[in-house]
Amino acid sequence: MQIVDHKVVSFEYSLSNEAGEVLDSSEDGKPLLYLHGEENIVPGLELALEGKSVGDKLKVSLEAADAYGELDPAMIETVSADMFDGVDNVEVGMEFQAELPDGQGFQFVRITEVDGDNVTVDGNHPMAGMSLHFDVKITDIREATAEELEHGHVHNDDDCCGEKECCGEGNCSD
Ligand SMILES: [Zn+2]
Repeated sequence: MQIVDHKVVSFEYSLSNEAGEVLDSSEDGKPLLYLHGEENIVPGLELALEGKSVGDKLKVSLEAADAYGELDPAMIETVSADMFDGVDNVEVGMEFQAELPDGQGFQFVRITEVDGDNVTVDGNHPMAGMSLHFDVKITDIREATAEELEHGHVHNDDDCCGEKECCGEGNCSD
């Protein structure tokens, strides 16, 4: 079986940056699953996996634009520490859900700098702007279920897919 749209693919991976430092990897014996063709993973990696088979190993080098995107300076903002009223210790690395200025939903922001009363928050993906290298080994390919296709993502026995509609249908452990 080859990887084409609507297949569920399991793969082990190691992700490193330009300097060769490992940023992330699949846990031992626990591959990552995704639904091919639904943009569940970064676009450059999905493209590289197209047509591959179980047992295939590949090295994929991606420019930022094909991975988590370029860094968007407009998503970096310095705000007053007063904004964090009620937070005991405002520290670098903390993540918050911030309401978008137009009131159209929420976005995750990270604190990237604290300088007295000035707090810098960044809404970019932590790996935005980075060239990334993936070492991938494909361990399984199966057909997606009708429900997975409907939702556009994989349903895992031991892993909540994080979508409300899934949890409501008893697919999640919590
Ligand atoms: Zn779902």
